[in-house]
Amino acid sequence: MKLRLLDFGGLTADQGWFLEGAGAATHTAQAPESIRRDLKMMGALIEHPKSGVILYEVGPAPNYKELWPEPVQDVFPITSYSDENQLEKQLEKAGYTAKDVSAIIIGHMHLDHAGGLELFRGTEVPVYVHETELKYAFYAVATKQDFGAYIPHYIDPSFNWKAIHGQEAQLFDGITVYLTPGHTPGLMALKVDTKNANPFIFTSDTFFFKENYQTPSPPGWLVRDMSGWWESLEKIQTLAARNNANIVFGHDYDVFAEYTKETYYD
Ligand SMILES: [Zn+2]
Repeated sequence: MKLRLLDFGGLTADQGWFLEGAGAATHTAQAPESIRRDLKMMGALIEHPKSGVILYEVGPAPNYKELWPEPVQDVFPITSYSDENQLEKQLEKAGYTAKDVSAIIIGHMHLDHAGGLELFRGTEVPVYVHETELKYAFYAVATKQDFGAYIPHYIDPSFNWKAIHGQEAQLFDGITVYLTPGHTPGLMALKVDTKNANPFIFTSDTFFFKENYQTPSPPGWLVRDMSGWWESLEKIQTLAARNNANIVFGHDYDVFAEYTKETYYD
């Protein structure tokens, strides 16, 4: 099993979205300076000895400027994205094309994580998403609830959606997903077992940055279920400790830099 991170560019937004209370006015600091934070957009490519090329999350759509609602682009502007960051190019760098991909796992269906699905519209490639996330995303789009987080463009039956049920599921040998709600109702973390390196856990946006996990600091305005989030934290902490795992947080530039020192981990 070989694992490599995919580079889908970056965005920038007010830190208050990601860390509870960040930038909040207080009695002693009534007009604090607002801090903006850079977020890496990333995914993972797994070369599985038996099951082929598997992706975990696929970044934003290359034509995000047309697809993302304007207020979303204002609040969460993509600040670095070139042709290099397109999923197609990232696959090419790894020596593959979209036709080589045998399965896709989507941690959660927000527009900066599922936009790259476009390459697989109308194909048979299975797209694994938790049942709860799948239902919530379709509902959110249909009712225009949770505006801006999900976009109709790829919340579409023409993909080969495969629902995952329950708390955890082993999808392939050495590849397990875990339901970890908080940021969204049906977010799935991923554990990949490797032979030579310690296992990797991908948290997607349950934890945007290391400090969400380590301090711990709950997400700011982007939390949807606070008690669910604390439970998910405990779940990942236990899993990580038991496996002595490397943890890849959803948007952390430092962690991305750390785990791209080598092209592949196996
Ligand atoms: Zn995100």
